[in-house]
Amino acid sequence: MSGRLIRIRGTVQGVGFRPTVYGEALKHSITGHILNDGEGVLIKAFGAEADLDAFITAIKDNCPPLGQIDSIDWCNLSDIELNCCDPVPDRFAIVESVSSSARTSIAADARTCPACLEETLSPNSRRYRYPFTNCTHCGPRLSIISGIPYDRPNTSMAPFALCSDCLKEYKDPLDRRFHAQPNACYVCGPVVELVRTDGLRLSRAERPQSDDVDIAASLILKGQIVAIKGIGGFHIACDATNAPVVALLRERKKRFAKPFALMAKSIEMIERYCHVSEEEKALLSSAAAPVVLLDIKAPGNIASGIAPGQNTLGFMLPYTPLHHLLLSAINQPIVLTSANLADEPQCTDNDDTLRRLAGLADFVLLHNRAIVNRIDDSVARVVQGQTVVVRRARGYAPAPISLPPGFEGMGQVLALGGELKNTFCLVKDDKAILSQHMGDLEDAATYIDYLKNIDLYRRLFQFEPTIIAIDQHPEYLSAKLGRQMLEESKGAKPITLESVQHHHAHVAACLAEHNYPISAAKILGVALDGLGYGEGQLWGGEFLFCDYYGYERLATFKPISMPGGSMAMREPWRNSFAHFVSAMGWNSYLADYEKIELTEFFKTKNLATFESMITNGINSPLASSCGRLFDAVAAAIGICREVASYEGQAAIELEAIASNEELCSNEQNAVYPFAISNLDSGLPYLEPAGMWQALLGDLARQVSAPVISARFHRGLAVAVANMVKKLSIVDSSPRFDTVVLTGGVFQNRLLLQLTRDLLQVHGFTVLTPARIPANDGGIALGQALIASANSLERK
Ligand SMILES: [Zn+2]
Ligand SMILES: [Zn+2]
Ligand SMILES: [Zn+2]
Repeated sequence: MSGRLIRIRGTVQGVGFRPTVYGEALKHSITGHILNDGEGVLIKAFGAEADLDAFITAIKDNCPPLGQIDSIDWCNLSDIELNCCDPVPDRFAIVESVSSSARTSIAADARTCPACLEETLSPNSRRYRYPFTNCTHCGPRLSIISGIPYDRPNTSMAPFALCSDCLKEYKDPLDRRFHAQPNACYVCGPVVELVRTDGLRLSRAERPQSDDVDIAASLILKGQIVAIKGIGGFHIACDATNAPVVALLRERKKRFAKPFALMAKSIEMIERYCHVSEEEKALLSSAAAPVVLLDIKAPGNIASGIAPGQNTLGFMLPYTPLHHLLLSAINQPIVLTSANLADEPQCTDNDDTLRRLAGLADFVLLHNRAIVNRIDDSVARVVQGQTVVVRRARGYAPAPISLPPGFEGMGQVLALGGELKNTFCLVKDDKAILSQHMGDLEDAATYIDYLKNIDLYRRLFQFEPTIIAIDQHPEYLSAKLGRQMLEESKGAKPITLESVQHHHAHVAACLAEHNYPISAAKILGVALDGLGYGEGQLWGGEFLFCDYYGYERLATFKPISMPGGSMAMREPWRNSFAHFVSAMGWNSYLADYEKIELTEFFKTKNLATFESMITNGINSPLASSCGRLFDAVAAAIGICREVASYEGQAAIELEAIASNEELCSNEQNAVYPFAISNLDSGLPYLEPAGMWQALLGDLARQVSAPVISARFHRGLAVAVANMVKKLSIVDSSPRFDTVVLTGGVFQNRLLLQLTRDLLQVHGFTVLTPARIPANDGGIALGQALIASANSLERK
């Protein structure tokens, strides 16, 4: 007989870990006990040596689906412990938690598991058609938790007392609902209710002999718009094949171009519309169940208003029993888009929500469980066989990210993120916890949510920052909040405020997710972005020689005026005009391209004013932005010329039309040329004048937009690769061998693939964002790591 003390760390609480260990203990004739504590799971195990070995191996091999084992350490119990003090127990037991779960991580919400789905759909089960069926291996987590430890009283399930049947499951270590906090059934759990948003009662015609979920499905099929309260927020649903209702939804949401997400009941149904690779199937069916961006195969009967100007559709599979029940009665895809409402934590009466939804939906499928934490759907895609997360929210957050080597023993850091696509990030206990996607902080409801969630995360992770990291942009609300926190902390525990350059943060986030050690060699970060604040200027196309501690800007894109400031982000043609003025001067442009259609368009604008704004620098800040270059090119060829109605629209539509045939062409003019010149300061930059001459020449010859788009993408990739090559050699010796490609522009799959391939051919190691978004959703992680590195240096 031997004894071992086994310590397991990772995501091991609230995921069904103890019952798994209990089951394995019985199988391997192990006695002793298991308990949760502040560091994870602790096991005292007694048995024969061989059985103990097999027991530990079995734990490793049978980690529950939502769990994640970071480490298993064990030591032998001494003879004294074995024989004297503690008599060897004759059975294995689960002991109550001894302290809070502050050090362990909180699992993300997970899609319905196959066992729960089967139960929900089986007429013999007591949960037949119950929309809130879940177990330890599936269901809500972050969306319902309000405090620690993760026990039912600290969740929005608190008002629902377990019935005797559910309690029996909850207490049985061999049941898959052992300690499943949201466990519920018809008798004791939340219920759904369908209501009309105009406050009237459902008529008899609207309510035939079926349940509310069934009625909601039939209303959707009849062309009604139905709001649905989900686990992390409200969605609006309608028939995706009904063009007039999709148009009506756009009208009501005042969202005229941004694509709507779709849900379909099965992969087979999605395959009617899109190509779905094996990797994409796995991603669609993963526990996170994100919206997956898929290449359109045949639009079929999908309404064209779903994703205007795109060559992809965003599909997800049902991820709650409610979705499964709803979709089982609908034989076509439905729109399932966020209702853009922040649900108040104590919103037990749904009246307020109803009032706000009244203008959007005809009916609402409500339920009586509060949403504690608003979580949007995640968005992901597969690029060259690899999953790339575009929006990291439900199903991914708040899964912890291990810190790279060298960051051990860091203090507690809070990074407040950017402005658009905001997330925030905590560093504690050698882990980074990146929040779910919050959105645009300029939106008042989002900002309130942001404050609320920072507060919640502080409680959940028992977190008190000593370092706060913010973006350098003085006007970002997140940066203002950081300064306010510093102000309020005066007199209390000292806080250090670190202001981090935007593109440096983009690069550091990518290094962190690739576990790049703090002491490793400096790399070249290529951050192609919309706009970020850099040393008093606007940046957005930067080549930074850097590590976590700092950066040196080795090269940039050409700084070009943005006439009208932020108006230039909304009206892409302004950027074309500014580029022409910069590349050749307006008169010279007119002399050469008087007759092209673009010039006709320009003549409708008051160009004299814009030209004098640019030459005199009035409300026309210079920006070295790659995003604005994309705007300029798109508008020049007639894409999204007048107005862009969402961030990145021009670039996304430009990528979508690029001609595949042209991309493979060997013709000499298939690649538009960029030159490398030097600014007055001596800083090298990419000069686009030659690119514009070639592009405008093609426009004059009426070369098609898809061909022009392809030539531009290839030209830009070659230009970036050439710049990297040039920068990599200094005094005839190599300066770096690793290149990071990041920033919002690199969400462009075409540009990313072309650039990565070119750099790899030249022998560079190329790192690109995958689990952490390339856009501003990732910069909080980068801010946290940069601030941590600098505090280590100060020590
Ligand atoms: Zn389940
Ligand atoms: Zn029950
Ligand atoms: Zn950015």
